[in-house]
Amino acid sequence: MPHTGGCQCGQYRYELDVLEKSHVCHCRMCQKATGGLFAALVGAPPAQFRWTTKPPPDYWSSNLARRPFCPDCGTPLGFAYDHADARIYVTIGSLDHPEDAPVTIQFGTESKLPYVQFCEGLPQEQTGEAPAASEFLAGLVSRQS
Ligand SMILES: [Zn+2]
Ligand SMILES: [Zn+2]
Repeated sequence: MPHTGGCQCGQYRYELDVLEKSHVCHCRMCQKATGGLFAALVGAPPAQFRWTTKPPPDYWSSNLARRPFCPDCGTPLGFAYDHADARIYVTIGSLDHPEDAPVTIQFGTESKLPYVQFCEGLPQEQTGEAPAASEFLAGLVSRQS
């Protein structure tokens, strides 16, 4: 059975065959994009993810990544880097069963807010800390204001 989810108003719905790399990201871009203190995301390879409704619009928060959202109810629906084999992430809170995606790692911890005490026992990684990520993110141009 696929994992399902969607936006608050139900106009956009998706399903994933697997739930991979469940994480929170504390980076400033994810804070801004969700309006929350961090983004909580879980993903699947592109072939194992599909919209079961029409696809929602994307906001390109930088030249490297898009963030689908519902323009009617405002739900942030996910995140994907701009290359064909990039994992498609959905917001854990938009899953019908978020309990199926326990968080396993924290990213963007350089911007983790000092009063956020959350999943303290999990591994933490700063943005660009992994060498491959550092190379990829070197070309990032934010489109957030
Ligand atoms: Zn909606
Ligand atoms: Zn982030």
